[in-house]
Amino acid sequence: MTKTLVSSVNKLYIDGKWEEASSRETIPVYNPATGEVIAEVASANAKDAEQAIHAARQAFDKGPWRDVSAYGRAELLYKLANKIENHRDELARLETENNGKTLRESFGDIDFTVRTFKYYAGLAAAPNGETIEADAPLTSKVVREPIGVCGQIIPWNYPLLMAAWKLAPALAAGNVCILKPSELTPLTAIRLFEFIDETGFPPGVVNLLVGFGPQAGQPLVESPLVDKIGFTGGTVTGKTILQHAVGNLKKVSLELGGKSPNIIFADADFESAVDYAMFAIFNNSGQVCSAGSRLLVEQSIYEAFVEELVKRTKKIRVGNGFDEHSQMGPLISQKQMQKVLNYIKIGIDEGAEIAVGGNRLTDEERKNGYFIEPTIFVNVDPKSRIAQEEIFGPVLCVMPFETEEEALELANGTPYGLAAGIFTTDGAKAERAAKGIRAGVTWINTYEQNLIEGPWGGYKQSGLGRELGTYGLEEYTEVKQIINNL
Ligand code: NAD
Repeated sequence: MTKTLVSSVNKLYIDGKWEEASSRETIPVYNPATGEVIAEVASANAKDAEQAIHAARQAFDKGPWRDVSAYGRAELLYKLANKIENHRDELARLETENNGKTLRESFGDIDFTVRTFKYYAGLAAAPNGETIEADAPLTSKVVREPIGVCGQIIPWNYPLLMAAWKLAPALAAGNVCILKPSELTPLTAIRLFEFIDETGFPPGVVNLLVGFGPQAGQPLVESPLVDKIGFTGGTVTGKTILQHAVGNLKKVSLELGGKSPNIIFADADFESAVDYAMFAIFNNSGQVCSAGSRLLVEQSIYEAFVEELVKRTKKIRVGNGFDEHSQMGPLISQKQMQKVLNYIKIGIDEGAEIAVGGNRLTDEERKNGYFIEPTIFVNVDPKSRIAQEEIFGPVLCVMPFETEEEALELANGTPYGLAAGIFTTDGAKAERAAKGIRAGVTWINTYEQNLIEGPWGGYKQSGLGRELGTYGLEEYTEVKQIINNL
């Protein structure tokens, strides 16, 4: 049992207080490396959601939050960022214990979390309006105002970081929030709310509902008292959310799944392209929305590239994230492991060939965890399910191409459009390819390097709206024009 969270672990944070959930039911939380239950957390339901919505509504409509200046909001966010930074080691360990990712990956997440809160603290007090020239004596002033009560629902693959990507811009812009973390990974969010409690946000401004999606999340989506839903998760859940949000036409932003292409041209720096191709799919055990899960390699280097990939993939050390030798941790749950193994079977049935991997790891050390081998498929039909659907695990499909045109056609040939990679030493070709790809983020000669300062989000069925940067702040504002005839 985790020792970090003691008093708050099975509670909800509503109206500035830790509260018992209305139901006595609890949700077991697992360590995916060992299969052990490490905590029992609260299971919020519609009644708890209603209470949180009421508290948030009061805080926004009648509480002191509206009178806290932009500088005041910035100070609170900085204070929170500093608390997180001061507990970097503890939070990274808790993340690895609950999510399974390697400690190195967890430290990366915590550092990006701190950066996110600091960045939005800085933006909170930045100028946020403009004037428009109007026919005298009229004047026109455009201002951005907070939207109101925001329900924020997040997944399990970057538990604390996703909480930061949601809370920081929303609070910086002056909104009030109700966060619903994944039922699989609520522990770092609970710890975050202990810091929020110490930071001094007015009651009701930031609330935490721990529970399952349909019981704790859906009431937020359906409520006419919630003004905005910020959601990150699977595309199927995203579509359900959009349908349920229609009642009061609340604002919805969706960060959804992907099947991102990574294009390797023959003139690329071979060594670096192999390094990034592996990082793109095996980082975070492939449980990344922007994972480079379709590797498109120019025919003339295809064989040599696959050979090198396979050679290196065989050497990846899969194990407990706390073991400093581990390079890849387990999958998040038994269910996710089963889903990935099922896709591997589908791939074989579809006629693709496994070049390396394909199995669960069941030796003494790993048999109770959800470990699978990093897996590479070749001879993949671009229209097959393994090449079209998001597997969300360490499974790579490699496909050859002959021409730039064919590479782009393959790259754009799925319903998703979150991210893409391009590897080449030809600057003009890189620009042409980047322009031709229909995705929200395109990396040239790198992969999965994210900037807090830039926009993040998807084309097509990968989402609606953008997070991060000033784009992410604007998603949490309404625009008002004030036309004055005084
Ligand atoms: P999921 O869609 O199953 O769950 C996400 C969240 O939604 C969880 O908190 C869950 O409890 C909640 N939920 C489920 N049903 C709900 C409902 N009916 N109403 C309200 N809330 C509900 O996703 P997951 O399995 O946790 O995460 C993996 C998915 O997230 C992948 O598809 C991945 O691509 C995506 N993702 C996208 C991004 C991005 O930035 N685009 C980032 C991370 C993850």
